[in-house]
Amino acid sequence: MQTHKDMIQQAFDAENFRQAGHELIDLLAGFLAETTSGEAAQALPWMAPEQQSQLWQQDYEQERGSPPAALFAKILAHSIRVHHPRYMGHQISPAAPVAALASLVDGFLNNGMGVYEMGQAGTAIERLVVNQVAAQMGFGPQAGGVLTSGGTLANLTALLTARSIKAPSPVWQEGQQEKLALLVSEEAHYCVDRAARIMGWGEGGIIKVPADAQYRLRTELLAASVEKARQQGRTVIAVVGSACSTSTGSFDDLNAIADFCAAEGLWFHVDAAHGGALVFSPRHRSLLAGLERADSVAMDFHKMLLIPSITTALVFREGSHAFHTFSQRAQYLWNRDAEEEWHNLARRTFECTKLMMSLKVYALLRTYGPELWEQYLGRVMNLGQEFAALAREAEGFELAVEPQCNIVCFRYCPPALEGEALDALTEAIRRAIVEDGRFYIVKTRLRGHDYLRVTLSNPFTAAQHLKELLELVRGLGESLRTR
Ligand SMILES: *Cc1c(COP(=O)(O)O)cnc(C)c1O
Repeated sequence: MQTHKDMIQQAFDAENFRQAGHELIDLLAGFLAETTSGEAAQALPWMAPEQQSQLWQQDYEQERGSPPAALFAKILAHSIRVHHPRYMGHQISPAAPVAALASLVDGFLNNGMGVYEMGQAGTAIERLVVNQVAAQMGFGPQAGGVLTSGGTLANLTALLTARSIKAPSPVWQEGQQEKLALLVSEEAHYCVDRAARIMGWGEGGIIKVPADAQYRLRTELLAASVEKARQQGRTVIAVVGSACSTSTGSFDDLNAIADFCAAEGLWFHVDAAHGGALVFSPRHRSLLAGLERADSVAMDFHKMLLIPSITTALVFREGSHAFHTFSQRAQYLWNRDAEEEWHNLARRTFECTKLMMSLKVYALLRTYGPELWEQYLGRVMNLGQEFAALAREAEGFELAVEPQCNIVCFRYCPPALEGEALDALTEAIRRAIVEDGRFYIVKTRLRGHDYLRVTLSNPFTAAQHLKELLELVRGLGESLRTR
């Protein structure tokens, strides 16, 4: 039995760390090479949840006290490989190695970031990163914002800011007086709905505007939606645009929403968690036309910008608005100069202790410049078009909608199969693909029907992999339907 002192010395021994660290990097480098090349047989080493749970229970019972190298190898063996060219599932990009190294530095330094002293470098770098993003979004010098833990939290934060600026009574001090509401496309991410409910607006506080055939918000219905809400005693304070929607990757007409918000005096928030990255792609920037007119924009770095999760920018066209989000004082007491300290981040974020997430972005930006993002985005956006072309031409396949980006929804529909039977086949194909593990794709439900869905966020995916996926789906479709 070791003494406590020995344990502490051992745990913090610099030589042990050096050795374990070298071993870990060797392990990860090997994993990276065999994954990006597609040499690894499986993108997803599927195991049922109970079995996985037992495996780790056993690991804990049998391996306690052993060195970490075998543990790390085991974790890799039981994890989905986002770097795999046949990984085409949920919206997450493979982490760039330099950004992953920055994550390690973040974890090791454990700077808290709530106040300046607790994260000097991270705080100043965060300001730089947010300013770069804001400028790229087309905002002027008065723009500002924060990095925060995910698109979900960024959207909620932005809507709290909207409420603080636009609600008729001071909600923060007096609680909610009016029945507030926001407008958003019926295709929006569920977190917008959740944000409205978290703020206490209830079901009536989220007014879902129908989408068109391309799953984009029907902006011509905004005026009638506001009018109807008013008649029901609701005060609409904001419209949320999706750039793009999660299910189909459809981009709302941001200019039309901006025009409407300007005319009505409403807050305009853009949920650009997925597609906001395209501000770094001059070729695709037009999908985001009007973004620069938003009051606030949420953009994830972990979906389309090669950064480890979870890293999100929340940018305000008027940076000072961010200081109203969690404002504990009445507006008339507001003292701009004293309160608007950019360097004490917790004033503007949900998080108190926060990751130094800016390091990951900055390490990549400083090493490769935004040119890496431009190249990467060009590659994955092309994959979306390539896959759509292949699916369109392949016999028996159907696209849900022509894709606008790297998200593509499709299904295999053999003749004479429709309705629930077709949904059941789509579900069975998806299940079989998950259990097989060579590919990883997901499924979504659109207007009452099931579709297979890919997000092509991997620059190592090639046309060959896309063709193989269609062949696999067709093969499974044929064998499963005859069962
Ligand atoms: C992914 C996504 C979110 C949620 O973002 P997280 O970073 O996963 O919290 C919100 N909105 C849209 C449109 C998304 O695509």
